[in-house]
Amino acid sequence: MQLDINRVLISQQQLAQRVAEMARQITIDHTPPNIPDGDEITIVPILTGAFIFCADLIRQIPLHIQIGLVTVSSYPGSSLSTKGSQLLSQQLGNVQGRHLLLIDDILDSGGTLNLVVPVLKGLGPASVKTCVLLRKDRPAAKLVHADYVGFDIPDEFVVGYGLDYNNYYRNIPDIVTLNAEAIQRHA
Ligand code: 5GP
Ligand code: MG
Repeated sequence: MQLDINRVLISQQQLAQRVAEMARQITIDHTPPNIPDGDEITIVPILTGAFIFCADLIRQIPLHIQIGLVTVSSYPGSSLSTKGSQLLSQQLGNVQGRHLLLIDDILDSGGTLNLVVPVLKGLGPASVKTCVLLRKDRPAAKLVHADYVGFDIPDEFVVGYGLDYNNYYRNIPDIVTLNAEAIQRHA
């Protein structure tokens, strides 16, 4: 697997440091008096890509957290660009009146957040905020609001730390690009 890596964009040390900073900020923003009605939030990772980021993040947020799940497909199989976002399933429980924090791995075209945020708002929560680990340097990504952004990265296809290519490479601890040979092999 290591031979498939072209370049490390963000190392696991950089990820750990930034995720800790983001957790601190999210904790402050959801602690009274910044949130008037207690320290309760529901965190909603978008599966599958956000699962590792979310797992690292929430273990550093010492609030009363519930978890809701949504599954979205946008880069099905060996796609290297979005094929349009599709909501495949949701497991949210009762989120009425609750503060929701939606977590995604990467903000690219914005299609995923534009699809899921209205769905969450339709369930009658007290608020909906958004958090992404990565945001691609392209105009479409900047047009979509995200409350918390970990890193701005070049407009390249990346994998690792939960992000996949054809469901592989999620277990790479860094954010990396793949070499052309690996992309062909798993296409
Ligand atoms: P958007 O809907 O904003 O275009 O893209 C967000 C979704 O597309 C992410 O949740 C992620 O699943 C997928 N995605 C976007 N860019 C990349 C990328 O560079 N690598 C991988 N592996 N997935 C990406
Ligand atoms: Mg995704």
